Amino acid sequence: IYGYAGTTLRIDLTDEKIVKEPLKQEWVDGYIGGRGFTAKILFDENPPEVDPYEGDNIFIIAMGPLSGHLLPASGKTHFCTKSPATGGYGDSNMGGHFGVNMKYAGYDVMILKGKAKQQSYIFIEDDNVEIRPAQQYWGKGSTQVEEELKKELGEDFQILTIGPAGENLVKFACISHDFGRQAGRIGIGAVLGSKNIKAIAVKGTKSIPVFDPAGLLQKGKETYAACRAKPGFTAWTPQGTAGITDWCNNVGALPTRNFKTSYCDYADKINGQAILKELKITDKGCFACPIPCGKYGFAKTKLGNAYVEGPEYETLSLLGSNCEVKDIHEIAYLNYICDELGLDTCSGGAVVSFALECYEKGLISKEDMGMDVKFGDLESIVHILKIITERKGIGNALADGVKAAAEVVGNDSDKFAIHVKGLEWTGYESRNAPGMMLGYMTADIGAHHGRCWVLGNDVAGSADAGNVTDLITSEQNTTTLSKAKHEHVVPIVLKSQHTRPAFDILGTCRLQYMEIGLETDYYEDLFYTITGKKIKWDELLKLSEKIWTLNRMYNFREISDFGRKYDYPPARFYEEPIPDGPNKGHFIALDVIEQMLDEYYSARGWDNNGYPTEETLINFGLA
Ligand code: SF4
Repeated sequence: IYGYAGTTLRIDLTDEKIVKEPLKQEWVDGYIGGRGFTAKILFDENPPEVDPYEGDNIFIIAMGPLSGHLLPASGKTHFCTKSPATGGYGDSNMGGHFGVNMKYAGYDVMILKGKAKQQSYIFIEDDNVEIRPAQQYWGKGSTQVEEELKKELGEDFQILTIGPAGENLVKFACISHDFGRQAGRIGIGAVLGSKNIKAIAVKGTKSIPVFDPAGLLQKGKETYAACRAKPGFTAWTPQGTAGITDWCNNVGALPTRNFKTSYCDYADKINGQAILKELKITDKGCFACPIPCGKYGFAKTKLGNAYVEGPEYETLSLLGSNCEVKDIHEIAYLNYICDELGLDTCSGGAVVSFALECYEKGLISKEDMGMDVKFGDLESIVHILKIITERKGIGNALADGVKAAAEVVGNDSDKFAIHVKGLEWTGYESRNAPGMMLGYMTADIGAHHGRCWVLGNDVAGSADAGNVTDLITSEQNTTTLSKAKHEHVVPIVLKSQHTRPAFDILGTCRLQYMEIGLETDYYEDLFYTITGKKIKWDELLKLSEKIWTLNRMYNFREISDFGRKYDYPPARFYEEPIPDGPNKGHFIALDVIEQMLDEYYSARGWDNNGYPTEETLINFGLA
């Protein structure tokens, strides 16, 4: 099939059975690739109500039709499994060079099932696939193992690893690759750990059939040139995501002190400029990326020094201001510690800040914590990250995320456990941002900015969406907002929620479109030269909508009491006005949240409990 390697690799770790089968035409025709494949496969093949850590929970890696070709940023790899963090649909993607090599080895999709009898790693070199012992790597840090495996196998192998957090089933353990790229959030690394798999090494040397090679070469060149000609190229590339830090602080969206407030007076010490001045050695990009957003640097702290990629904005905000760390070297060092332990820096920062607030309020004892801890103290934060990884003392509860930890801590701590569906909120405080708030609330995997990002519309308004800031309630004005204003929010949230999966389906990075404004026509043309099939961007958006509906159904199937109550933000966001900064006094009242949910469900064709109606399921061919 043009654009695809053509094979699905199935590995049953329990029976040590390796099966290669032709890529299903039904998947290609109905779901195209990447996130489309994973949503379909997880729904169809994962046993209903399986425990995420049982061997039967499948672990999927999928590439898209645009992956691995000579076009900008075609190196995204998509991972999926039932999430231990939420109990529902979970996926994550990662840049670097792993998936491209998997495709060059001949596989569009890899599905792992079962549990290896001993600690193992998977070795793939084109047709040769083996499950190899990995006792010598168990217990070691992610980056260290990547380095050692490259020494053992050769530099041209692409390696993904888990750290000790994945081995110990921490529910926000991630997968690491390429010395600083991660697939994180939903506990994907813990599921690999539960299967006794420490790493996967792959090297591929085959070709992928293309419909019009000369046309692709021409279009690929044009697309690179277009990226580099955009004004956004010079604005975005030098700092990458860290470049947004000051803006977020100035609009009052920078999470600070466990989302107590949304502004800090030291943003200039932890922003993109600080990275360039203090840390950066070189830019670093994923496969075929013309706008490398990775910043590789060197951090020096009183606890040690480290080479590290990052920190990106999410890490700056969640391990930085949200934990009150005011020094860019210290944030970068914490980034390094998380990478080595195999912890997601978003959830890691959010869980640590929750623990610090609990400790400050006297809800966690010094004995349970293992030492005296405080906001802003590097030693305290490193200690908490380590007890989480080792599941020691209160670290055992924290390792299950803030939702579960709040149940252990009690005393209304759930009000400041900042999550949706069990997934910690990422780096955008949203009491001043109704669109972001709704986007986080309704995301299939839980609170994740990767599912929706409309902060620009929220705080600045826009020509097509109108200014939605009137939805925000202040202490002086708690009246419900007009329907006219609500109607601006849902369309912009839906548009963002549908645009993002399109890139995950195709197998490319979305930042060329989102950050520098590359037009979607390029993707339509590239798709045609690669696959020989015509597709309109609107058709991709329609598929995105179908996937959102399918994943919603997956969550209803897997979580017995799933429904509207899983779509609310934490109480802090509707009960506590922001105490200071540019949005002092602001919050979004619960009745506004209820109205936004009603309008969102209605626009999606879901009932009042967020369950897709029969008509909606029929419309998408999902009945
Ligand atoms: Fe990777 Fe950043 Fe380039 Fe996207 S923009 S492909 S994340 S380096």
